[in-house]
Amino acid sequence: MKHSKIYQHENTGKELIPPFLKGELGSTIHLHSWSRERVPEYIWLGLLRDSCATKKEYFDKFYNLKEYILNRFEEPLDKFSNILKMDRLNKKEFFETIVDIFGPHVLDPLIVVSYFDNDIREIFYNKDNNNDKRILKLQEIVTKMYERYDEFAMDVRYSVIILKLNRVRFLSNLKDSIMIEALTKYPYMDYNSPEMELYSTSLSSFEGMDFSFNNNYEYSKYFYEEMYLMTDCNPMILSYEENVDYEKIKEKMLELRKLLIKSNEITYDDKRDVIIGNITYVYKMINEIISNNLGNSIVSRFVLRTISEIYVNIKFLCLKSKNEPKIWESFKDYGSGKYKLIYKKIEEGISTAKNCSHFNSDILKLLSNENKSEEFLKVSFTNFANKNTRQKFIDVGEKDLYDTYYDYDTCFSHGYWGAIRESSLLFCDNAAHNYHSVSDVECEQKLICCYSDLCFLLDKIIKIMNEELGVE
Ligand SMILES: [Zn+2]
Repeated sequence: MKHSKIYQHENTGKELIPPFLKGELGSTIHLHSWSRERVPEYIWLGLLRDSCATKKEYFDKFYNLKEYILNRFEEPLDKFSNILKMDRLNKKEFFETIVDIFGPHVLDPLIVVSYFDNDIREIFYNKDNNNDKRILKLQEIVTKMYERYDEFAMDVRYSVIILKLNRVRFLSNLKDSIMIEALTKYPYMDYNSPEMELYSTSLSSFEGMDFSFNNNYEYSKYFYEEMYLMTDCNPMILSYEENVDYEKIKEKMLELRKLLIKSNEITYDDKRDVIIGNITYVYKMINEIISNNLGNSIVSRFVLRTISEIYVNIKFLCLKSKNEPKIWESFKDYGSGKYKLIYKKIEEGISTAKNCSHFNSDILKLLSNENKSEEFLKVSFTNFANKNTRQKFIDVGEKDLYDTYYDYDTCFSHGYWGAIRESSLLFCDNAAHNYHSVSDVECEQKLICCYSDLCFLLDKIIKIMNEELGVE
């Protein structure tokens, strides 16, 4: 399936809205999950499809069944839960018709997930089968149906539409639409024909609309619960190479260490103090990552984010200092002001530090008053130099760094879902478990090692030492 490009999205200033969700349709559309809510209801169709060698054979037989349903029943018969609820005579007749058209035992695997229904057992029971085989077959069918745009799954979804169709009426202006074309041509088309992708997308979105707005997914819930008990979990761990650039980063850190030691000889001034302070902070963070072997960790992402921000801050200060030589002092005041607000609130009882043990407010006070008395220290509530982070990256020509490094690592430091999913939940590779996620309590999932990216940032930082402080 082709996905829309960023430029095709509508930018409202607050969010980017994909084309499909624009306008009235976007606000009224109800999305229902094929895999979570509907696959179990249509496994019976999956088994029918599976019993046929070719698409043609299947659709020939399927249309016979559809004809029978149309002539015999008022309501469409598509969901398995509704079939199970039919009165016994009708149900048996319906099952026997399936046997006549598709052959004996075709729905035998469903015996284990049909609320112990006697009729399905009586009509489809295969004495050569056992429950293990039945469960395996169901797993196989669910897996095949899960890939919504795959050939097998598409055949099933198309059949679902056809079974539902006797209660769907098309608006007259839709008569020439791609949907009608897809509906009429799909069964006779080759999977590899050029129109297939377009047809599959139209049919899938059509099938996904629940015309009855019937949100009863009890059977699907029951199915997955049963399958969860009968089959094993298979949590998948993505594996990446371990700390490949270890030697390289050790070397770069050694180089930076030498430069930092050398910088101690330079006479004191605010610029030197701010740059060396920031870079030593970077040095210490990377040192903590390397010495504790944390290259593949979640915290390494926090560190990367902070380093890219620090690097951009230094570049921004260097740029601004050409016209504002006092900006180095302002940078210190800005940070000291942040400490001031914390200890003042504690001192004056506005906040209590009763349960907070990882800092000492007396030390915050001491450090905050180091450069100037707190009476002369403003507390700023805005961003430093009134610039937001993104704008600073742009101003110093590092937008790319913002769009990749900073934005990705921010997902980790803010605990956004993508980062949580990537690092802390394992994906169970069992379709019959609905590919649920499993908590990684054993901490087996590692992330891609960040050493190469740390080296990239270290090079930029060493360059600043050379160019701005003349330390080589
Ligand atoms: Zn599982």
